[in-house]
Amino acid sequence: MIRVLSVIGTRPEAIKMAPIARELERRADTFESRICVTHQHREMLDPMLDLFNLEAHHDLEIMRPGQSASDVTQAVLAGMSEVLERERPDWVLIQGDTTTAMAASMAAFYRKACVGHVEAGLRTFDKYSPYPEEINRRVAGVLADAHFAPTRWAATNLRREGVPRERVFVTGNTVIDSLQHIGRLPFDPTDTPLEGLPYGRKRIVLVTAHRHENLEGMASICGTLRELTERHPELHLAFPVHMNPRAAQPVYDTLIGLERVSLLPPLEYQQLVWLLGRVDFVITDSGGLQEEAAAVGKPVLVLRERTERPEGIDAGIAKLVGSNRDELLVCAGRLLQDPLEYHAMASADCPYGDGAAAERVVQGLLSMFPGALDEEHIYEEPSPEHPLDALLHHATEEIPRQYADQVISRFKRCSREWARR
Ligand code: UDP
Repeated sequence: MIRVLSVIGTRPEAIKMAPIARELERRADTFESRICVTHQHREMLDPMLDLFNLEAHHDLEIMRPGQSASDVTQAVLAGMSEVLERERPDWVLIQGDTTTAMAASMAAFYRKACVGHVEAGLRTFDKYSPYPEEINRRVAGVLADAHFAPTRWAATNLRREGVPRERVFVTGNTVIDSLQHIGRLPFDPTDTPLEGLPYGRKRIVLVTAHRHENLEGMASICGTLRELTERHPELHLAFPVHMNPRAAQPVYDTLIGLERVSLLPPLEYQQLVWLLGRVDFVITDSGGLQEEAAAVGKPVLVLRERTERPEGIDAGIAKLVGSNRDELLVCAGRLLQDPLEYHAMASADCPYGDGAAAERVVQGLLSMFPGALDEEHIYEEPSPEHPLDALLHHATEEIPRQYADQVISRFKRCSREWARR
């Protein structure tokens, strides 16, 4: 048995780790899967664990009001050290760029447990943007033994930093696996914050903003959003407001009470996915939402000066507008008024994955244990249940571009179908 300990600290980590935990459970004859939550964020993490049916075997309960990144680092290091002593895993899986991921990889290194880094290799190459996430991800990369890069670009970054080829796996992003899984579940918006939005009557735009880099400029971003609604009577903003009071206060100060702005509580993931399928486009500083919107063909205006996800910009589905008033007004105005511009963005390819990333991550772990390889697992017949299953075996680094295009456009068709349901 291969003992794998997955570490989860925040909402996006739960969303992106859940498909891997499920895949490890599906292969319970080979893997013993354990989960440690740090609760770097408590309120937004617990509903995710429930939704994905994840049972935490360890809870470090580190969340304290107003704690700094170094407080989180110390608490995770201390807590993980005890958990690792008890569990003695072969692999510690961490996800992304959080302080939880960085500190857990360090704790694993001190115990000489192997580290698998999910969503590895993304870079802005700017130490302070996003802060502290850029450096968190790089430190985790230095300590990792297996790097699960969501895209070729991320893999190339790792190879340029000297990571050996055999330790880098191009997997797609597991957020797409989750999006597809949750998108297939039945959902009724009655008695949820989504009830009563003007579906079909207005052009609804989903807005989220909470990144550290935007906290100072949040009032100005909200002022621009207000101006946007004044200029475009057909527009309605649906804005789930983040729990961080520094992000929330300027939003309430500027946008509360406006007729065509719905300020919503943080949405449960199923609600978010349902809403995403019904909006015209997205304005966000979130990383995960950039990927999800691209997967369902929704244009994204990115409220950041730099992004570690340039693939969406290159593909044409996303535009970087930063916190610049004019850029946001012009780009949003075009999406609202120019059907050609809208169509060009909405029909761009999704560069972030096909929904089978978790299987590739687990396959990658197996490939690093040659003795544990099981032919039946590797060459399992695709199930006829879902058209995407047929694509499971093909998205490797070696995939021919022509085939990759077919895969992606087929995926986009499927995504749109379920978004319409
Ligand atoms: N999300 C959610 N409810 C919300 C806002 C976002 O479930 O009200 C999801 C979103 O779909 C994405 C993830 O949370 O998968 C993004 O989280 P966040 O923006 O906190 O982090 P980032 O992706 O920037 O790391």
